[in-house]
Amino acid sequence: MLSYQHHYHAGNPADVHKHALLAWTLDYLVQKDKPMTYIETHAGRGLYDLGDEAALKTGEAAKGISVLEQSFAPDHPYRQRLDDVRFKYGPMAYPGSPLIAAMTLRETDTIHLAELHPGENEILAEHLTQWDAHIYKQDGFKLAQALCPPTPRRGMLLVDPSYEVKAEYDSIPKDFAKIARKWNVGILALWYPLLTSGSHGPMLAALTEAFPDALRHEVRFPPVREDHRMIGSGMFIVNPPYGLAGHAAEITKLFASKG
Ligand code: SAM
Repeated sequence: MLSYQHHYHAGNPADVHKHALLAWTLDYLVQKDKPMTYIETHAGRGLYDLGDEAALKTGEAAKGISVLEQSFAPDHPYRQRLDDVRFKYGPMAYPGSPLIAAMTLRETDTIHLAELHPGENEILAEHLTQWDAHIYKQDGFKLAQALCPPTPRRGMLLVDPSYEVKAEYDSIPKDFAKIARKWNVGILALWYPLLTSGSHGPMLAALTEAFPDALRHEVRFPPVREDHRMIGSGMFIVNPPYGLAGHAAEITKLFASKG
């Protein structure tokens, strides 16, 4: 039974980190006049209302996007997607990763999104109706295994689990390796939390051993609430595009300046 719902956490510091790197990478990919594929294994609902009860209850966006946004240059792809979403849906709207992808990609590109939670899946389908995205109510890793290597072969995968099932820390390196074997040219990105418990450590050690050339980028921030165990956000990216490491270093400075 899935209980995690991202609308309690949308726009928090981890979302800013993940979505800024995602928007930059997708923007890089669409510069080339060749079609691409975007696959996401854990899509969420695609669009969030930072003024809804759930978001206000946790107040996580107030520690994330609200303080960090102005540090991004106005022409940063993440700022541009924020502007696009607010223009279309109102000032409190916040884009999830599927909407960042849908608003960046072109008609010639292909989008595949898995979301297992029935309610979230239904809302995702509503939010994405205007885009020609393929939406699946199934396990994201199984979907990725079935689709890879995708057509077109150029493109990226985002894996953004909620880590509700603790066994995911063990299974993710294996799942990631299987996908990488099938899609050796894909940009494969995994988001993970930095936890006070250090539970993410063995998973990262296994990933780093399997993918020594991957980009591992982490930012640290104060917990969004007193009892919160997440003290930072990480992205592990296999086949990172040219320039992403330099861009990630800028994001490090941006978070440090607000820390
Ligand atoms: N990637 C989204 C974003 O940045 O906007 C947020 C995704 S949220 C962290 C994780 C989502 O994965 C939740 O909506 C949850 O219902 C869904 N989920 C959990 N286990 C899943 C699975 N095995 N396959 C697909 N979706 C799953």
